[in-house]
Order: sequence, then C-alpha cells, then structure tokens
Amino acid sequence: MKAGIHPAYEEVKVVCACGSNFQTRSTHKGDLRVEICSSCHPFFTGRQKLVDTEGRVDRFQKKFAKAREMQAQKKAAVDAKAAKKVQ
Ligand SMILES: [Zn+2]
Repeated sequence: MKAGIHPAYEEVKVVCACGSNFQTRSTHKGDLRVEICSSCHPFFTGRQKLVDTEGRVDRFQKKFAKAREMQAQKKAAVDAKAAKKVQ
C-alpha cells in the first residue's frame, strides 16, 4: 500500500438498537450505532417485525385507530336503529 493516502482501518464496535453488539473493522471513526442488525432483522429471525422509521408505523396506527373507532360508532348507530325497527 502506498503510504499516507489510505484512511485508518481500525477496530470499531457496532451497537444495535436491539441491544446486540459486535466488533468489526472500518474506516469510520468511533463506534457505529445502527437501528437493525443480523440478530434482529426479520430476514434472519424469521419473525414478523415492523421496521419503524421515525415513528411512521405509530403514526399510521393512530390515524387508523380513529377511523376504526368512527366505523364502530356508525355500526352501533345502525344496529340501534335496526333494533328499534324490530320492536
Ligand atoms: Zn439488532
């Protein structure tokens, strides 16, 4: 290798949001923090998991919880009307 043109390639620690961590080598300075790794990614675990970015899944669930609630109310109102008609 030519001297003085290559970045330092040193040991770094990779820490995942799931709590697992491992050592590797990289030109990156300092430790790496990642959101997903091979021990928690659905591809490797075989389990379904929502891979969330900036709370998008949470926002989606909230949005549709309201819609579902309104639908339930509507259905309850229709059912009440039907019950009245029968009497
Ligand atoms: Zn992980």
